[in-house]
Amino acid sequence: MGATALKAIEANFEEPPLCAETIRRLTDAGIAFMAELTTPLGCENVHFGPEDLNRLLEDKTGFAAGYFGVTRQQYLDWIATGGNPRCSSETRSGKPCRKPAGGRYQIGIDEWLASDGGLCRSHETRVLNRIRKSR
Ligand SMILES: [Zn+2]
Repeated sequence: MGATALKAIEANFEEPPLCAETIRRLTDAGIAFMAELTTPLGCENVHFGPEDLNRLLEDKTGFAAGYFGVTRQQYLDWIATGGNPRCSSETRSGKPCRKPAGGRYQIGIDEWLASDGGLCRSHETRVLNRIRKSR
């Protein structure tokens, strides 16, 4: 088969399949795989094995969510909020409060999950004052 025929075949595939032999040779030579996973502060470099190569290529977001041990939506929300957990209260005009719950910014996903949907420092203080006055 000539080079022209090979190019014609390759043109029919959007992405050529990964060559298992190439991956085996790379792995046997001690060449490791690393991915840059998006985080609120930029990215985190993560080593992974050849067995995860297809999963990462097909669905990097799902791979990242699995790596961080959260759901796909939790991972996407963590990124979208810049790692700032959302306050569940509203401003006096009825708009969602934009201050971070717990008063913490750009935190890791475990802390973010624990704080997201809580109260910011201002709303926390208001709730505590209401409780004190009611006693
Ligand atoms: Zn608030």
